[in-house]
Amino acid sequence: MKVLSAMQPSGTLHLGNYFGSMVPNMEYQETAQQVLYFIVDLHALTTVHDADLLRKSRVDAARDYIAAGFDPEKSIMFFQSSVPEHTELQWILSTLTPLGLLERSVSYKDKVSKGLDTNAGLFMYPVLMAADILLYDADKVPIGKDQKQHVEMARDIAQKFNNTFGETFVLPEPEVREGVSVVPGTDGQKMSKSYGNTIPLFGDEKGIKKAIMGIVTDSKDASDPKDPDSCAIYQIHKLFLNVSDAMSLADEYKNGLSYGDAKKKLFETYMDYFKDMRQKHADLKDSDLLQIMEEGALKAQKIASEKMEQVKKAVGLL
Ligand code: ADP
Repeated sequence: MKVLSAMQPSGTLHLGNYFGSMVPNMEYQETAQQVLYFIVDLHALTTVHDADLLRKSRVDAARDYIAAGFDPEKSIMFFQSSVPEHTELQWILSTLTPLGLLERSVSYKDKVSKGLDTNAGLFMYPVLMAADILLYDADKVPIGKDQKQHVEMARDIAQKFNNTFGETFVLPEPEVREGVSVVPGTDGQKMSKSYGNTIPLFGDEKGIKKAIMGIVTDSKDASDPKDPDSCAIYQIHKLFLNVSDAMSLADEYKNGLSYGDAKKKLFETYMDYFKDMRQKHADLKDSDLLQIMEEGALKAQKIASEKMEQVKKAVGLL
């Protein structure tokens, strides 16, 4: 099995990202034959036009993922822009991509309907994403629901290429993480940076404490029995626990654990669980990260350039 996952260098990672996407993604490091994790700085350019911000956010993203457990020894980690074959293949694929296919992109239409500034790069996004996937013969692409259509487009484009020029690309399968439950935010809705209800992974301790102590609860008295199933503090806390510890904690709620104490317990568990990752995050220097990503890019480019040779032969450029 060959797997790849592209990560946006955008914003501060939160607990929803960690349990909803990073943990299941990291599992492939142990099981797949080839795993690529790359930071899609070229995709980011469709919305970020501030050089210092992009420079910082791509390195910060590398730091976040490596500190959280993405392992450059077990996977190939790199910046998308370090492997120019991505854009080279994008051009060739774009000459086969029907405009109508791109016009049906839900995420593009969504951005237009929200009145965001659009540009040709944003419109072409699914073609670059197809190149990202097809270059590496990926057969599995783990994604959130919102990206499913893009992987299906990559599959359509690959099929069109294979029909036109002969079997060249593996048809990728989207793998939507249906089983992963939604992590609630501090207000009980889905945790999301757009709702401002997140608990950050790597922020300063004070900010994490403030977010946890601010989790919204009902107005039960301190010693009243609480219902763990409808309580966001418990729903978040149980993500860190095995089944039997989660059951004992649920009993404490039913026996009248106060919300204040429940939050303190969660905060302690949180800091303990992320202690080593937070330390690694603090220790990783920009220069080390750039070197790790450069080494990853060399490995990725070896695969990508072989694929491009095959593609160029197929279309008549070699
Ligand atoms: P946000 O909603 O904060 O903008 P993103 O859309 O950047 O988050 O999410 C990146 C990935 O993290 C998504 O593919 C999604 O699977 C996962 N994710 C984000 N928030 C949650 C959540 N609250 N619960 C479970 N998974 C989540």
